[in-house]
Amino acid sequence: MKTKFIFITGGVLSSLGKGLAAASIGALLEARGLRVTIQKLDPYINVDPGTMNPFQHGEVYVTEDGAETDLDLGHYERYTHAKLGQRHNYTSGRIYYSVITKERRGDYLGGTVQVIPHITDEIKQAILQLNSEADIAIIEIGGTVGDIEGLPFLEAIRQLRSDLGTENTLYIHLTYVPYIQAAGELKTKPTQHSVKELLSIGIQPDILLCRTQISLSQDIKSKISLFCNVEEDRVIAAKDVKCIYEVPLRFHEQGLDERIIESLNMWTRAPVLTEWEDLIDRIQKPQHKVRIAMVGKYVNLKESYKSLNEALSHGGVANSSEIEIDFVNSEEIQGGQLQDLLSDADGILVPGGFGSRGISGKLEAVTYARENKVPFLGICLGMQLAVVEFARNVAGLPLADSTEFESSTPDPVIYLMTEWYDYRTDKIQKRDEDTDMGGTMRLGAYPCRLTKGSKAHAAYGVTNISERHRHRYEFNNSYRKVLEDAGISFTGLSPNGELVEIIEISQHPWFLACQFHPEFKSRPLDPHPLFVAFIHAALSKRLKA
Ligand code: GLN
Repeated sequence: MKTKFIFITGGVLSSLGKGLAAASIGALLEARGLRVTIQKLDPYINVDPGTMNPFQHGEVYVTEDGAETDLDLGHYERYTHAKLGQRHNYTSGRIYYSVITKERRGDYLGGTVQVIPHITDEIKQAILQLNSEADIAIIEIGGTVGDIEGLPFLEAIRQLRSDLGTENTLYIHLTYVPYIQAAGELKTKPTQHSVKELLSIGIQPDILLCRTQISLSQDIKSKISLFCNVEEDRVIAAKDVKCIYEVPLRFHEQGLDERIIESLNMWTRAPVLTEWEDLIDRIQKPQHKVRIAMVGKYVNLKESYKSLNEALSHGGVANSSEIEIDFVNSEEIQGGQLQDLLSDADGILVPGGFGSRGISGKLEAVTYARENKVPFLGICLGMQLAVVEFARNVAGLPLADSTEFESSTPDPVIYLMTEWYDYRTDKIQKRDEDTDMGGTMRLGAYPCRLTKGSKAHAAYGVTNISERHRHRYEFNNSYRKVLEDAGISFTGLSPNGELVEIIEISQHPWFLACQFHPEFKSRPLDPHPLFVAFIHAALSKRLKA
């Protein structure tokens, strides 16, 4: 069967939840038995989000194949079974880069290279390579209709309707219907304008998703329908929800999946949504509450730890617990305040991060968790700091450090490993301090073997796992013996034993840190074992207190 394409655009303003809408549509179509894939096209010029500041852009989401992508791919993978990677996230920068490379190579035989057709053709190719990957490919166009940068993408998807036919393409537009308190009214004008803007580019939306604070009355729907030329039953409310995992159900109640199938001229089974319904039920009726202190640098922007927040809440659902995350800014932790900031926590988490800002606060948080027997989960940088802390305060190496923060430390317990065997490429990797910033990270899924009887093994229930990475520095094996003698267990290693992936302190109720990012693989319907175990330990501590 040929793949059919759904294009999702957004209007009026950003942050309306286009990514969640795309992911939710994916979930609904999968519930009907269809195979789905999802792609994000981002109009900015950066070649990929890898080097973008999480403050500005939110988290960098890492896929199995090691692509550093937009955080919306995280939503897509959490809501669907689509296997995403490099092919599922393109930026203008990447598209232009490829066209310019071809031009330099002489591929265009001296012709004038232009936005139309060269850039638009490159975009179409990026979309069409998903052909045959699934029954339906959902393509989300980043940004807002009317942005200059978005035009080539919109032109490309406009052309695809004539290339592929009406039954194989569908345009869904997400807009905003604001509620004006003073007038006590919902206003449809911004939606009308946004659709007009799309029409001026040659795209008539087939379905409108209208983000709104309160329900859309039939009157409002008729008005939008009339002015926007979209049938009334295709004007769907995207009302604010308490929990993001409700969105597929709210869309389904209004017949969105039915309308999509109809428009694409497909027949499917009725959707099976019991798993989602059960999930919402469990989220709405938690039996306990667990407080997790997350000690990080980007704490004032929730978007920068998106997958982590979600993974914690998935771990909560598995333990019938509501999770309250206390974002603790590591730069604010100073000796005295530590107790105040952390004493209420049932569990302490130190997430991934780059650069030396806020490091000493994070180290103090690790000491606090270790000494006070508070369940601790360290992720990536969090593991590296757990090692540094233990080396300094338990193993008698007071100057131990990561060379990321102190290049001349006498005890580089975390360092750049100059040579190691790379399971992903099946090659020996080499790197040093001078190699290019972007090119030296260990990225994507790597295999790991767990020690039987460890906390990690208890959590996963298997010994062979695979997890996603995004870091440069590694544990320095010359310190394995001295740290082991002092009480650290190395419970997760690469299959050849060369790379340390998990450490634990067995003389502690639950202290585990990993070099990888487990949060990227956690799903609401399949919570990640480490988060389930961490929350379980935190809950046990709370219930004992
Ligand atoms: N900065 C550390 C490294 O590059 C950790 C990275 C991370 O936490 N993702 O190794």
